[in-house]
Amino acid sequence: MHSLRETEAVFFDLDDTLYDQLTPFQLALEHCRIDLANTKVEDVFKKVRYFSDVLWKVHIRGEISLDLLRIERIRCAFNDFGLSLSNQRASEVQERYEFEQQQINPFPEVLTIIKDLQSRKLIVGVLTNGPVQHQMNKIKSLQIDQIIPPERIFISDGIGIAKPDKRVFEYVQRQINIESNKCCYIGDTWENDVVPPIEAGWTSIWFNHRKRKPQSNHIPLETIMSYDNFMLKLP
Ligand SMILES: [Mg+2]
Repeated sequence: MHSLRETEAVFFDLDDTLYDQLTPFQLALEHCRIDLANTKVEDVFKKVRYFSDVLWKVHIRGEISLDLLRIERIRCAFNDFGLSLSNQRASEVQERYEFEQQQINPFPEVLTIIKDLQSRKLIVGVLTNGPVQHQMNKIKSLQIDQIIPPERIFISDGIGIAKPDKRVFEYVQRQINIESNKCCYIGDTWENDVVPPIEAGWTSIWFNHRKRKPQSNHIPLETIMSYDNFMLKLP
């Protein structure tokens, strides 16, 4: 059985793992004066993330542009709750969401956890899906770039492979030159952040703060709902 004591490298997912993605979305809806009727913003947001993952597969097959994906995921989520949203309105929400994402803050414990892991001589990095500039803007807003060096920040568009393809984990592992079973990945999405690292021989910590259900029989090293007492919770 692996434990964090045997781990030499820890990589974090970015979106909804290092910062709360709900906050910029909520602010964007408020700015655009979108009426959710009786639907909870968190439920709509979960659906947006769901459609984001579904449409991501369509995007990597080259069948939908990233710009259209970002609008469609919002429109589809609203539609799922019986709320209609025109492409124009969905586009306005997306535009404001991108603006709000420039003002994001990390989860309060995150910077301390990264520094703590580094002080234990672990390699700490970020592995995220998306366009390089867009993801780097968020990493800079979070000031993560001030504690993690650029050679440990991996962005799918820069590599040419994206989660859930397990080869992206194999690629990172080769770059840092640490055995796969000594690498650990922390992320919020089962399909992208738990399954492929395990398939690549890594361990995984599932940051399940949105209280989702596992989607397969893969077993993460640990499932956590928050970063409270993170270091104490680790095996
Ligand atoms: Mg994520």
